[in-house]
Amino acid sequence: MKTSPSDPSRREFLKTTTAAAVGTALLPSLSRAEAKSAGKTIGIQIGAVSFVDEGTEKVLDILQERGGVNTLFLATFTYGRGIAGRQVPGQPLPDHGKQEYDTNFRGGNFATPHAKFYERTSLKQTKAPDHGDYDVIADVLPQAQKRGMKVYAWYEDNFARDVPGVEKLRELDWNGRRANTLCPLHPDYREFLIGLTEDYCQSYAIDGVMWCSERQGPLHNALGAGDPSRVTCFCEFHQKAAKERGIDVQRAKSGFKSLDQFIRAARAGQRPNDGYFVGFWRLLLEYPELLAWEKLWTDGKHAIYADIHKAAKRSRNEIQVGFHIWHVNSFSPFFRAEQNYAEFAKVADFLKIVVYNNCGGPRYASYINTIGSTIFRDLPKDELLQLNNRWLGYANEAPLDKLPTTGLSSDYVYRETKRAVTGVEGKCKIYPGIDIDVPTEANQKKTAPEDVYAATIAGLKAGADGVIFSRKYSEMRLANLAAGGKAVREFSS
Ligand SMILES: [Zn+2]
Repeated sequence: MKTSPSDPSRREFLKTTTAAAVGTALLPSLSRAEAKSAGKTIGIQIGAVSFVDEGTEKVLDILQERGGVNTLFLATFTYGRGIAGRQVPGQPLPDHGKQEYDTNFRGGNFATPHAKFYERTSLKQTKAPDHGDYDVIADVLPQAQKRGMKVYAWYEDNFARDVPGVEKLRELDWNGRRANTLCPLHPDYREFLIGLTEDYCQSYAIDGVMWCSERQGPLHNALGAGDPSRVTCFCEFHQKAAKERGIDVQRAKSGFKSLDQFIRAARAGQRPNDGYFVGFWRLLLEYPELLAWEKLWTDGKHAIYADIHKAAKRSRNEIQVGFHIWHVNSFSPFFRAEQNYAEFAKVADFLKIVVYNNCGGPRYASYINTIGSTIFRDLPKDELLQLNNRWLGYANEAPLDKLPTTGLSSDYVYRETKRAVTGVEGKCKIYPGIDIDVPTEANQKKTAPEDVYAATIAGLKAGADGVIFSRKYSEMRLANLAAGGKAVREFSS
């Protein structure tokens, strides 16, 4: 990877802005805020639209008073609705904010892209047009600092198809077709993320960054709910990297072709003579390239974590760098095996582990139904759930038919937080992501105040260094947020 040339003027600018912030408002109020939360990070994820709709000071009042929040994770870059924009259309609007859906949501960079950081990438025009010239960091940062609140830039691997310059960065499936996802080995993409990180860290006196990539490699995607003929990536960069590892590209493609046929037949209930699982294992023996390509892809994803860590620390060493760990980590032992907390801790100051327990019920049930329709099809699905619970270390969770309406328990939040705290061996902080009104279907588990209270207490009791209320303020009901705040106050007192 190329590194950025150092630019003294950038550093000078930053030094001045940081010094100014510290000199004026930051220090006196910081001690008060820290005392209240007993040193824990009480974060919330929030997008630009909430400040635009409700007024910045008013929103900050609510977050501090109701939620006990001392750290803002501003959704600064995404083309998705999961962390930005108002409530997802079709879901009930919460009891604050504008009472209409933003069906014209577009997304992009909700701060201001500064051109000099994007000289080594083709992705130059990413400013979100949703709120005109509005820059969420420039607006919120000074007002948050006055209150002693910390501000993190929170950005994710979610791009629209028609972002200018994005076409050649898109992945190729094993049939040579373009996907919507961007290739983690494409230098332009990596340089974009490095530039974006430097832009946030050098143009604004923020306290930290958090990156999210809710993606997995081709073997795991083939076992998922999508089209196994479309799994990625087989672009020139992946082929080159594969050859360097001694992986035969043609054998890999043949392996994915056979896997595609196997998955389609399994979904249709065509049982191999030796059983579904044996059939799958035989494929892995025949084509070890399936696992090798999964590892190759995943190493590329994680190399971006290292890129971001390096770019942030090079900008300012005190910047806190962390990663959002996808919810699939809670359901799939295969994906979990790729989430090595001790390894992540080498390039992270903190990990936000997703432990959304309410929507976790329907999501986990969906995972079991998917995997139970292919490689584990010989097991009755509820038995598969029990087996999977044992693999993942869960106890006392609802049976499969109740799981979508019951959700996962606060005991799950405790166990997963504890596992993460143990896993990082004290080398990085753990912030469990707490589910507050993450959307589910109409007849599925909805968040209640007691759920948020119990999950927040469970995370803190398990030894977490804080919590992050998720996914976005614009979908949360205030009583549920207040239950998180109550838990924080009671735990601290
Ligand atoms: Zn690629």
